[in-house]
Amino acid sequence: MNTVRYELLEGDDTGIARIMLNRPEVRNAQSVAMTYELNAAFDTAAADDNVKVVILAAEGPHFSAGHDMRDRAVMDGHDTVGTWCGFDLPGGEGLFAREEEVYLGMCRRWRDLPKPTIAQVHGRCIAGGLMLAWVCDLIVASDDARFVDPVVSMGVNGVEWFVHPWELGARKAKEHLFTADEWDAAEAHRLGMVNHVVPRAELETFTLALARRIATKPSFALKLAKLSVNQTLDAMGQRVAIEGAFGLHHVAHSHNQLRFGMPVDPSGLALPPRRPRPSSGEAI
Ligand code: ZN
Repeated sequence: MNTVRYELLEGDDTGIARIMLNRPEVRNAQSVAMTYELNAAFDTAAADDNVKVVILAAEGPHFSAGHDMRDRAVMDGHDTVGTWCGFDLPGGEGLFAREEEVYLGMCRRWRDLPKPTIAQVHGRCIAGGLMLAWVCDLIVASDDARFVDPVVSMGVNGVEWFVHPWELGARKAKEHLFTADEWDAAEAHRLGMVNHVVPRAELETFTLALARRIATKPSFALKLAKLSVNQTLDAMGQRVAIEGAFGLHHVAHSHNQLRFGMPVDPSGLALPPRRPRPSSGEAI
């Protein structure tokens, strides 16, 4: 693996696997190759009966800048995780298949991994970066973490794994999408999107301690507890809602392709640096 590092922890941390996003030179932007390597790492953790908890963390100053927009790699050569095909066909047919496979399909698999997962987030977590954090069961953020989905600025409804209303609540999800403001870790914690916020220097040790506590529990009960919560979300309609939003996401891609000759509105790619969201009480 080149873009992802897989570590089996030892000693007091036995039973914990740590997956590190490892493209710090591009702020861990997710290329197709990285997505498949990340998938392989999750599969390795799932298949190892000695692993009870998985931490997803990142090298470099930021968790993830999102999808690698410059990556135009063909899909040939990867063992696909879904049943879609025709990934490199022209028009909406290829793009839909590609995003069904590498974004929606992957996120579904990772969200349903039958072991507790913890995202350890620091620095910026942008668009597709949110998808990686959101598929994990728990999120621990450092106090320097920043979260934003700026995809509406690019003429699309939001990232492909559309769980914003579940993560932020409906009204705050709308504000987050409409404004594309960057929200800090404290705000994400207040909204319930993040389990804990800790100083940057304590992020790794805090996350490990949390994983260690979870790893003392019986593995089957952990799997069943996770499945029970995920089944509840499905019963509440989460899966159907995600798929509905994914369909609208592709209406937007097709609209932009017709209007601008590319799947996103190019004016959104050239926005000035996003300003942080004003704290409560300001600018009202
Ligand atoms: Zn898309």
